[in-house]
Amino acid sequence: MTAPGAVRWQTWSGTVRCTPASLVTPTSEDEIVRAIRAAGERGLPVRAAGSGHSFNALACTEGILLDLSRYRGVHSVDAAAGEVTVRGGTTVGELAETLDRHGLALANIGTLAEQTVAGAVSTGNHGSGLAHAPLSSQIIRLRLITAAGAVRTLDAESSPDEFRCARTALGTLGILSTVTLRCVPQFRLRVSQRTEPLDAVLDGFTAWAAEADHVAFSWLPWQDRAGLRALHVTPALPSRDAVRRRYATTIDEVRCGLIGLAGRADARAVPWLKGRSLLPARPPAEYVDASHRVFTFPQPVKFLALEHALPLDTTADALRALRRTLRRTGAYSPYSVLVRVGAGDDAPLSPAYGRRTGYVNLTVPRTAGQVELLRAIEPVLRDHGGRPHWGKAHTATAEVLAPRYPEWELFQQVRAALDPTGMFASDYTDRVLGPVRIPAELSTLTLAAPIRDGG
Ligand SMILES: Cc1cc2nc3c(=O)[nH]c(=O)nc-3n(C[C@H](O)[C@H](O)[C@H](O)COP(=O)(O)OP(=O)(O)OC[C@H]3O[C@@H](n4cnc5c(N)ncnc54)[C@H](O)[C@@H]3O)c2cc1C
Repeated sequence: MTAPGAVRWQTWSGTVRCTPASLVTPTSEDEIVRAIRAAGERGLPVRAAGSGHSFNALACTEGILLDLSRYRGVHSVDAAAGEVTVRGGTTVGELAETLDRHGLALANIGTLAEQTVAGAVSTGNHGSGLAHAPLSSQIIRLRLITAAGAVRTLDAESSPDEFRCARTALGTLGILSTVTLRCVPQFRLRVSQRTEPLDAVLDGFTAWAAEADHVAFSWLPWQDRAGLRALHVTPALPSRDAVRRRYATTIDEVRCGLIGLAGRADARAVPWLKGRSLLPARPPAEYVDASHRVFTFPQPVKFLALEHALPLDTTADALRALRRTLRRTGAYSPYSVLVRVGAGDDAPLSPAYGRRTGYVNLTVPRTAGQVELLRAIEPVLRDHGGRPHWGKAHTATAEVLAPRYPEWELFQQVRAALDPTGMFASDYTDRVLGPVRIPAELSTLTLAAPIRDGG
């Protein structure tokens, strides 16, 4: 444990910083339990941090920050049952590589290998594919260390409501120690890319969303064509040049980072700069590789991102409105708008709760001025029933969010029962979830709040 005030912690993007009273880096479940009991005795709040890849102050605290990046590793693999148990601080990449060595894989993951499993599930992390809900839907059971320092094993049979809530809880119900996830036999994916007029894609949006196992498209808002990416499961062997293909997206991001620097004086110059050849153009891509190497790619360039989960049926309208707004401002990010899709989820705080989802992501360089773009598009996505990604930039408060989550009150009840003193709360969680409510306040409320805005 470090001395008070001696530590500074910051997110991966470097845009959010905090000064915890102490930073604890446990390497075992016992050490986590001891740290929580010690914090309880001193009356200090506790927050967990994974790899810090969220773009907001979710992991920040002025109390005890538990950095779980050293509590890592795969605990056990049961290939016959299709189950893997990992420590919370294990990265998604480490997990995927270990599974691959056992002939197994996760059915679907997002683009980032460096984030921790506990951090990813806690914020509703998702990949793309209409048959796939967010990563936390793959959890079979989990071990949660509560504010009382008790270790609870939660699953769908023994504790259905607590289990559903704990699957996506922003670290507010306790510390996820180990997580047992469902896995599938390892598989390979064929990547195919093509471009089409954006309007044609939007007109047939739900059909496009179902055209392959995993689909995504990216679109530069000043252009009228979109780049479509479809992934199909294939028995074919990995392509010889698969490694080079995988780095093509990384090179694109390096290019965006450079353009962000060059265009920081005036974001209206971005389309012109984007037309210049700063690095070799991306080769046409049709290749095969192991699933986890197709889903993820190295992302060394730091940026800021905002993403909303929308009802699948309103996503095309939201994108049309977004195009109008962005073109009106005339200022652009060098990064494409990224659109993905997913199945509905049943974790009360999952952004995909109860509906098939279209995810719309806008990425901007960290340069001043670009944040204005995020401010301009957030109301557009919100007006179309969007729920912000818990790990990305947004300005929503509990008042805005509560009506968008039909089981919001159930979550608050479970939270009050597991953490009655608000040990796992912070200024930021007070903003997005409200403070922990004492049970008497909760008993006067109905369980499911009505959805007032179609969200
Ligand atoms: C380059 C990049 C690419 C990304 N790609 C995607 C993507 O494809 N899809 C997507 O959905 N998101 C994506 N994200 C967002 C990212 O998945 C989330 O922000 C995720 O939470 C990051 O995990 P982390 O380990 O860094 O968690 P942190 O940011 O460190 O923490 C996130 C939350 O998890 C909590 N937490 C962490 N560990 C524990 C624990 N053991 N117990 C309880 N709570 C815990 C923290 O308290 C905090 O509330 C991306 C982010 C970046 C920077």
